[in-house]
Amino acid sequence: GYQKVLEENRKLYNQVQDLKGNIRVYCRIRPFLPGQPSGSSIVEVIDEKTLTVLTPSKHGKGKKSFTFNRVFGPSANQEEVFSDTQPLIRSVLDGYNVCIFAYGQTGSGKTHTMTGPRELTKESIGVNYRALSDLFLISEQRKDSISYDVSVQMIEIYNEQSGVNVPSANLVPVTSTTEVLNLMNIGMKNRVVGSTAMNDRSSRSHSCLTVHVQGRDLSSGSVLRGCMHLVDLAGSERADKTEAVGERLKEAQHINRSLSALGDVISSLAQKNSHVPYRNSKLTQLLQDSLGGQAKTLMFIHISPEPNALGETISTLKFAERVSTVELGAARANKESVDVRELKEQIASLKAALMRKE
Ligand code: ADP
Ligand code: MG
Repeated sequence: GYQKVLEENRKLYNQVQDLKGNIRVYCRIRPFLPGQPSGSSIVEVIDEKTLTVLTPSKHGKGKKSFTFNRVFGPSANQEEVFSDTQPLIRSVLDGYNVCIFAYGQTGSGKTHTMTGPRELTKESIGVNYRALSDLFLISEQRKDSISYDVSVQMIEIYNEQSGVNVPSANLVPVTSTTEVLNLMNIGMKNRVVGSTAMNDRSSRSHSCLTVHVQGRDLSSGSVLRGCMHLVDLAGSERADKTEAVGERLKEAQHINRSLSALGDVISSLAQKNSHVPYRNSKLTQLLQDSLGGQAKTLMFIHISPEPNALGETISTLKFAERVSTVELGAARANKESVDVRELKEQIASLKAALMRKE
């Protein structure tokens, strides 16, 4: 029993250490959907890390190969897709900043990965819920040594304006996954969903669930803070593909602008530029603390199997290749030693005393 727990902990520890290095990129291929014409897939899974895309060329068919940290084929279920993400959740509780993205064209499965299908079951529920559920489970396991406060915030960025999705409160303290699920349901209902030529459930906004964690070590009194952004990005397709006009075109342009700002941030991180243009969009401003630097970042890339998605599939995969070259600094925990905390408290009480004197 005990030996097994130790062994398990060591394994997890090693996995967490592995999270240093580049932004991790996992690619998920959506299955053909029931009720839609199913032909043969243009994407083939070669192994756990490699896929090929069939591309038409002058001399018959060509193949283009892509490699990522993981490739999940169309039959991968929600549990498998989440399983490699678990070490990241643990590190949020250790005081790291974590950012998990879903990227891809509309209809490729982003919301499926992050939230799940419309009718949620225990099996079909997505990364957001699983992440929080793990978070509460681990914090419960640690409750004799660390006391954790968890709060969540749902933010939607639409036309470069951010709005808060949960009514009446910004940052909501939560104590269970059920509470979060209720908040998420409210948030989802408020999300702007409209129809485009590509998918009637198309989401034209970036939707971000942020989890703030504060842990206090019960013996030393030191405090650590971790933060996790779970981001379901707007569709990455180019405006001309969606036959958008008027309001829809304006939205598409805003979406493209913030996604290209994200691309620019990622490029300049990749090139190790001293100036990273975080301030060019609401999205990158929001994620500044959790992109690059000391954060741990994971991007779930989504692609569709249909031949008519070829153009978008290739551009998504090229974006993903670029993302996977970004080297992150060794992640660092946001830990405040007891000394610093005590000093801060002393300063605060001295200030208060001075105020009283004036
Ligand atoms: P996006 O958020 O990228 O626009 P969705 O997540 O809404 O795409 O997926 C489009 C449709 O495909 C939905 O009906 C969804 O339930 C279904 N779908 C997506 N990924 C999968 C999957 N891995 N397995 C089964 N159905 C999926
Ligand atoms: Mg969606």
